[in-house]
Amino acid sequence: MSDSLDDLFARLARSDFRARFRLRGRELEYLRAKGLAEVMEHAARFIDERLAPAAPPNDGKQTPYGKHPVFVAQHATATCCRGCLAKLHSIPAGRELTEADRLHVLTVLERWLRAQEVVNA
Ligand SMILES: [Zn+2]
Repeated sequence: MSDSLDDLFARLARSDFRARFRLRGRELEYLRAKGLAEVMEHAARFIDERLAPAAPPNDGKQTPYGKHPVFVAQHATATCCRGCLAKLHSIPAGRELTEADRLHVLTVLERWLRAQEVVNA
């Protein structure tokens, strides 16, 4: 688990790859149409199904680059696969995510999505 979310977001901002992700186009429209609460319910489901298992199917390639605001947020925050979770969030691969891990991921995703709402307001 990262020391603090501020440190984590500072590290993400220094990554050219992570920092280029923005919410725009249809993913931004989707967030506006559904609202953050509903989008975060989707996020919880995606995390449970695609990230939480000890060995997620297709790990490393399970997160599309668009089509849903949460997928964009996952790439921007390095919560896209277990390799990135291990590298940037110090959450070990090879075991199921704990409730605390899931909460951490959801907190990170919500923070990123809220920031995008502000940027695009
Ligand atoms: Zn990844």
